[in-house]
Amino acid sequence: MKNSGLVKLTRKGLYCERGDFYIDPWLPVRKAVLTHAHADHTYRGNQDYLVPREGELLSRVRLGEEARISTQKYGEVTDIDGVKVSFHPAGHVLGSAQVRVEYKGEIWVISGDYKLMPDATCAPFESVKCHHFITEATFGLPIYRWQPTEFIFEEINQWWRRNQEKEKVSVLFAYSLGKSQRVMNGIDRSIGKIFTHGAVERLTEAYRESGVDLPQTKYVGAIENKKDFAGSLIVAPPSAHGSTWLRKFGVYSTGFASGWMIVRGARRQKAVDRGFVLSDHADWTELQTAIRGSEAETVYVTHGFIPELVRWLNEQGINAVPLKTQYGDDEESETDVLTDQRLE
Ligand SMILES: [Zn+2]
Ligand SMILES: [Zn+2]
Repeated sequence: MKNSGLVKLTRKGLYCERGDFYIDPWLPVRKAVLTHAHADHTYRGNQDYLVPREGELLSRVRLGEEARISTQKYGEVTDIDGVKVSFHPAGHVLGSAQVRVEYKGEIWVISGDYKLMPDATCAPFESVKCHHFITEATFGLPIYRWQPTEFIFEEINQWWRRNQEKEKVSVLFAYSLGKSQRVMNGIDRSIGKIFTHGAVERLTEAYRESGVDLPQTKYVGAIENKKDFAGSLIVAPPSAHGSTWLRKFGVYSTGFASGWMIVRGARRQKAVDRGFVLSDHADWTELQTAIRGSEAETVYVTHGFIPELVRWLNEQGINAVPLKTQYGDDEESETDVLTDQRLE
């Protein structure tokens, strides 16, 4: 099925002209279909939104009460001017979706961000067959291969216990949407108390309301007595690192949960005591599994190691081309209104 231009890249984002809607646009449009609530995929200022029902509460936190949001469950199909649009789990964070677009037998899948590794805080990735598959390439190099999640959670548990013995507070930096909740769900909650930065707490509450099992947490800002932090785990967004906010914890050890921690030197560069290799993105092997599983005749590569993955796929006889979008790197930075100082 040749590319008829059903979905194309424009100045404002990925556009389906036939249905007159955009997928994850970065400039304001009339109708935005969103894959997930991370800041680089969910921008404010659009007239109407269509989001996966499973991620509705997170989209609300991000877009505000006044935003006009309609929702659709995974697998449900809407007809937009003859174009069939459906969401399918992307396994990235709660409510994350791949968007499937079909018109006259031509099928596109815009996968947004995804991973295949099991994650108890969201629905597992679903392989969707299509003619045209748009994939991310955040970790599109052979050096990126993740270990089983249980192993990483055990590393965090041990670090926390050891800090406790030394009467240190454990401060763990993790992206406020997704990574924080995945860590809190997976670690041993019997070790001690867990406190959250304001940005994390708000999203954690939305996760709980969406039915995800999470330990009890307390918002750091609500604590008067510093002694309450003794032996506890503090979960905070990476942007809190190096801020005066950390002073309230007295003696502490810092950790960072990110896929980038696999690279030697990244931990030193981030100036943290410990790095935990935990990512919400597909590793090298998962990217291949997902791409092959799509059975797409053309693969569009965006977001990350684009030329490297394109070249490798072409060498394997898979037709791949680069696609330059504005999506950022949610493992690394957090350009997020929710990390606003007022929310500390
Ligand atoms: Zn994301
Ligand atoms: Zn992204």
